[in-house]
Amino acid sequence: MGIEVMESCGEKCGVFGVYGDGLAAARLVHPGLWALQHRGQESSGIAASDGEKIRIHKGMGLVAGVFREEIVDSLPGYSAIGHNRYGTSGGSLMMHAQPVWREGGLVAVAHNGNLPSTEQLHTFLRDRGVATDEHNDSEMMAGAIDWYVQNGASLEEAIIDSYPLFTGAFSLVAMTVDKMAAVRDPYGIRPLSIGRANGGVVFSSETCGIDAIVAEHDRDVRPGEMVVVDEQGMTSYQVANGHQRLDIFEFVYFAHPVSVMLGERVNEVRRRMGIRLAQEHPVAADVVIPVPDSAIPAALGFARESNILFDHGLIKNRYIQRTFIRPDQRLREKDVEMKLKPLPEVIGGKRVVIVDDSIVRGTTSARIVDMVRRAGAREVHLRIPSPPVLYPDFYGIDTPRQGDMVAARMSLSDLTQFVGADSVQYLSYEGLITATGLPEDVFSTSCFTGIYPIDIGKRAHEVSRVIFQS
Ligand code: AMP
Repeated sequence: MGIEVMESCGEKCGVFGVYGDGLAAARLVHPGLWALQHRGQESSGIAASDGEKIRIHKGMGLVAGVFREEIVDSLPGYSAIGHNRYGTSGGSLMMHAQPVWREGGLVAVAHNGNLPSTEQLHTFLRDRGVATDEHNDSEMMAGAIDWYVQNGASLEEAIIDSYPLFTGAFSLVAMTVDKMAAVRDPYGIRPLSIGRANGGVVFSSETCGIDAIVAEHDRDVRPGEMVVVDEQGMTSYQVANGHQRLDIFEFVYFAHPVSVMLGERVNEVRRRMGIRLAQEHPVAADVVIPVPDSAIPAALGFARESNILFDHGLIKNRYIQRTFIRPDQRLREKDVEMKLKPLPEVIGGKRVVIVDDSIVRGTTSARIVDMVRRAGAREVHLRIPSPPVLYPDFYGIDTPRQGDMVAARMSLSDLTQFVGADSVQYLSYEGLITATGLPEDVFSTSCFTGIYPIDIGKRAHEVSRVIFQS
């Protein structure tokens, strides 16, 4: 059943698009996807058009594994979109790899985000006889846009007509044989930037993808905006009133440090988060070590502000992918040990501060603290440069049920015991907002505050109020 499948399928993805006369678009989308690999490692795909025909290739795994040179060359044309998918709980299903395109379809779609409520969309498709069985939210969105195009609408008309059916977070790129469109939900929950290169237009989930193909970042697609590119050039439509509410978790964990979001470099925001954390929760220690890679800037900020030595005490095997990719708890726990190795020379006999970007289930922290103790640390203090994660996400970053979030289940002292540290401290919510350098109201902060800017429909019953006991 469509809705059930959608609910078990988180989509935490990267999208990319290139359109430009004379460009070999797939050749540019390919490195763009490499640069967005951190946004999804389950599957990858590219759809390209030469003005007459859409061709597509997708497969399971990393971009490097899915695309060999000759495959990229088999996708000719001046227009192409690509996608990296980061699905976990729905299983590693090839059927959900994107871009979404069905044989005979006129539209290919690459979607980043999640629609917590798909009832309206489901009803729309069912009433028109469009199959929805086992379709997730992205596939239903593509189904609606395609239905309009099949019935004579242009790509932009089809998106404008389907837009009210999309209740949730979406940053998507869509293409027909001769047009491309990039669209964001009215709150701009997930990022989407526009770049320019060689007379062509680039769309990328993050600016690091635009950098990767040596294009210039122009601006971001605005919340509620659709940008259409065709042979006439670029046209902007404000489809809905926009209120910027970027998911703050992009700054905390998800985005690449080189990317710029809302004018702020992610690396610098993370460094400031570490500085604020050191001011809020100082600790007497001998060495500050980051959990690589995402916590490195915050650990540097923390160490500098506290005048404590920064060092690499945990070394990451870069070729083992993120622990969350495995839906199985047992394997996930083993992955931490496969992924990280402690350096006893850095840690032994020392009072160690470990900085990690966030705690969700708490299993990663517990294993890291244990690893650092076994490598000889005298004291272990965990410092987290973001507030406790208390509420599930419904907008496209996969998080577990609220009942599995350690900070929603126990007090800080129980949590400290659970992870086995001498102390655990989080950055305050106010501290996080200050560190971004941006006003609070440009963000969706739902995972910390439980305030959901876009209606989460029936899924509201999955959330209860939590007061974190410090
Ligand atoms: P855990 O507390 O065991 O659930 O894992 C927390 C770790 O996972 C942190 O070190 C983060 O770097 C990482 N993490 C946090 N949120 C996510 C997410 N939505 N997807 C994947 N990894 C995440």
